[in-house]
Amino acid sequence: MIEQIRQAIAGGEYEAASGLALPESMRAAFVRKDEQQMFEGMDHSEKDPRKSTHVDEVAIPPLGPNEALVAVMASAINYNTVWTSLFEPVPTFRFLERFGKESDLGARHDLDYHIIGSDGAGVVLRVGPGVTRWKPGDLVTIHCNYVDLESPEGHDDSMLDPRQRIWGYESNFGGLAEIAMVKANQLMPKPSHLTWEEAACNGLVNSTTYRMLIGSNGARMKQGDIVLVWGATGGLGGYAVQYCLNGGAIPVAVVSSERKAQHLRELGVELVIDRSAEDYQFWKDGTQDPKEWGRFGKKIRELTGGADPDIVFEHPGRQTFGASVYVARRGGQIITCASTSGFMHEFDNRYLWMHLKTIIGSHFANYREAWEANRMLDLGMIQPILSKTFPLTEAGQAAYEVHNNAHVGKLGVLCLAPEEGLGVTDVEKRDRLGEKLTAWRNLA
Ligand code: NAP
Repeated sequence: MIEQIRQAIAGGEYEAASGLALPESMRAAFVRKDEQQMFEGMDHSEKDPRKSTHVDEVAIPPLGPNEALVAVMASAINYNTVWTSLFEPVPTFRFLERFGKESDLGARHDLDYHIIGSDGAGVVLRVGPGVTRWKPGDLVTIHCNYVDLESPEGHDDSMLDPRQRIWGYESNFGGLAEIAMVKANQLMPKPSHLTWEEAACNGLVNSTTYRMLIGSNGARMKQGDIVLVWGATGGLGGYAVQYCLNGGAIPVAVVSSERKAQHLRELGVELVIDRSAEDYQFWKDGTQDPKEWGRFGKKIRELTGGADPDIVFEHPGRQTFGASVYVARRGGQIITCASTSGFMHEFDNRYLWMHLKTIIGSHFANYREAWEANRMLDLGMIQPILSKTFPLTEAGQAAYEVHNNAHVGKLGVLCLAPEEGLGVTDVEKRDRLGEKLTAWRNLA
């Protein structure tokens, strides 16, 4: 039955696909509760997502009110897939157990397997009671803000809801599956010129970047701002440099190889720092070396003609945070959404208070921000940064590559899509955008 759904969608018969009977089971990528201790005692770098990520048949998720079942044509790897597969910083089964105690509907998520993945593009197959805005047969992309908005706190900004979760990380039934269960308020129209895999790779990182840099909850970047972007060819950074370029800001992009630096120059990023070639040693013997912060700041000034960054786009965390606080201009902003290299940051507070800098914490995006970010893709003003795709059976390998920083841009995963290149419904628009759309392909 899943085969019929796959063929109908691949053939462009979306409504017909949504009219077919659902199978009882589907293939999905998941981690197992009985393996959550498997990496205990090992170094972070030794833990291997290929060992913990399984792909097998599991039950179709049960549909509830205000929810939708989506035939996932493609999904993508996010860093949270890496965290889940390493059971770091905590096993995600803890989130599912907590969710299970909350309500009967939450209890559906508390299983001994966790279907992972926080991105997806595909076709709505079923909608639950209460869904009026979406119908079976709709082509959609999915963002990962999983929230009901029952509490008053979330009504200015749903990211402030005390029960806000990240779908496929703090909820079950994520996107690395043939069928995903989502809330209807996670759905967004699929950009018509993108393939399934191109449409599926943006939701999490593009929306996060939009909130961090553009939205009123973030740094409110403006024309002429100098923006220091760490990891500028990574998931977040690859969108950050695009928002800078088309928003009239000046990105100073940091990457770790000449190849990545060259790629950014070809995309129009003029100021690039190869952190490997410069060999910055911000930490030495368990403490930080302010001279190295100074050397980094000097390099930035050399490139900018003497100016310091108005905004620092932070996510590496412990390794870079001291330098980020130091190099931001007087009155500048350090916006952070992560701590890939460690959560316990250390910085010299004198540079923060004496120079009136601000640190802003940011996390994913509300529906409106995710919608605006998706609209930018639809308008062709932001391009997907997909470099490579994997079949669902190799989801663990894809997560392994991200864990080892062996990737560029986004790694996609084909779920129901039998091959790359399907799902485009506006060929003329695609032709108009031309090579911009595939500039990141095969860089990994
Ligand atoms: P990614 O695709 O792995 O890109 C991150 C880039 O950061 C890497 O490509 C690497 O680039 C650079 N980097 C890694 N370690 C570094 C270090 N020690 N010093 C300097 N640069 C370093 O990951 P991503 O998708 O951009 O996500 C980055 C982080 O943000 C992850 O921890 C993720 O969990 C988090 N995140 C949080 C949210 C949220 O909503 N809170 C959303 C998305 C992501 P180079 O080697 O080229 O420098």
